[in-house]
Amino acid sequence: MLEKVLIANRGEIALRILRACKELGIKTVAAHSKADANLKHVLLADETVCIGPNPSSQSYLNVPAIISAMEITNAQAVHPGYGFLAENADFAEQVEKSGFIFIGPTAEVIRMMGDKVAAIDAMRKAGVPTVPGSNGPLNDDEDRSREFGKQIGYPVIIKAAAGGGGRGMRVVREEEELLKAIQITRSEAKSAFGDDTVYMEKYLENPRHVEVQVLADGQGHAIHLGDRDCSLQRRHQKVLEEAPAPGIPEDARQEVLNACVNACIEIGYRGAGTFEFLYEDGRFFFIEMNTRVQVEHPVTEMITGVDIVKQQLLIASGEKLSMRQEDIIFRGHSFECRINAEDPKTFMPSPGKITAYHAPGGNGVRVDSHVYAGYTVPPYYDSLVGKIITYGQTRDAALSRMANALDELHIEGIKTNIPLQRDLVCDAEFRKGGVNIHYLEKKLAL
Ligand code: ADP
Repeated sequence: MLEKVLIANRGEIALRILRACKELGIKTVAAHSKADANLKHVLLADETVCIGPNPSSQSYLNVPAIISAMEITNAQAVHPGYGFLAENADFAEQVEKSGFIFIGPTAEVIRMMGDKVAAIDAMRKAGVPTVPGSNGPLNDDEDRSREFGKQIGYPVIIKAAAGGGGRGMRVVREEEELLKAIQITRSEAKSAFGDDTVYMEKYLENPRHVEVQVLADGQGHAIHLGDRDCSLQRRHQKVLEEAPAPGIPEDARQEVLNACVNACIEIGYRGAGTFEFLYEDGRFFFIEMNTRVQVEHPVTEMITGVDIVKQQLLIASGEKLSMRQEDIIFRGHSFECRINAEDPKTFMPSPGKITAYHAPGGNGVRVDSHVYAGYTVPPYYDSLVGKIITYGQTRDAALSRMANALDELHIEGIKTNIPLQRDLVCDAEFRKGGVNIHYLEKKLAL
């Protein structure tokens, strides 16, 4: 078992990791920026190291500082959380080369999944359903690109192989627009990601976002922990998630879950991971794999009872998965509302001092948050201040609990999106289940 882990992240996920370490008797080192000395997990950690000034480029993305912090504190392993360096293959490689453990998959697998063309190729070969597309990069041959467009059928989407965060994509509705769109996406990709590789996919008009959580030990064992629906998004940012995804036919669900497990074995996956799919008309289409723990992992924990972060730590310790697929029992339904420090109407960030804070509670309510009364939300990082997660034996029960929990939640001093979340849990269409990825933006535009 690992003895000491350095947490190279901040906010709620850093606290989540700290709690899992404590439960396993692992000592913790909180690596933090100057602004973050008062973060809850920093106050609770066994040791702390300031790794740099406030901008994340000089702290949470500062690879030499993080590796030095591991050396100084004798930490054996680093947990990268999500965001920052979590999916940076060069970081994972440097950590391992320096003689430490990266809590996640191998650098090679992270690199492959970071290149969407390579990722889709690997998935297709492993039997995971992908979006019909060019099955490889587009080159300078204009006729070939036009031919792909015809075969796939318009609308199509041109995507950057190195793209991320919803950037580097362009929808093309007619052949006349195709070549120009390829050219623009290419040059945007070059300047944003330093790689101008682009590919083509069928553009799905009204899909849902459904994803599959997996755990693999890198020693030949892998299981899935079911699916989640994260269709409520604004500008590709997830707002409210649930597990399981409602209204999916059981045979389609089982098929995709099994395909993901097989793919993990096939690519030698290690750790926790998520296969993201677009789901339309009863079919799943793989779009990308996230090689890390995700913000929305708690909804899966609520319906399976599996602690995903603890499993990450056990796998990184070199242990084999102790659970088999048949040990995973899915029970009930869970929702997660992300609470952001932002204006609920304009979505402008709203950092500042929290003057009063009351968290909800009660049966089936979980709060993952690092904030407290008197804490100041700094302006340098993302605006997530916490997550409210509820469980219910049925979807309706979990939703009613969420409505109550949001009513109880009280944050003063900063603006938050709580009013938006309250509105969403009462939304008639959402309550029916199965809204698509455009639903929230359309609702907001009304
Ligand atoms: P990123 O890594 O930037 O998040 P993704 O490939 O996951 O990129 O795509 C981000 C979002 O873009 C998806 O959640 C979906 O909303 C939209 N998208 C991507 N590919 C398609 C597609 N083929 N058809 C329709 N929408 C798509």
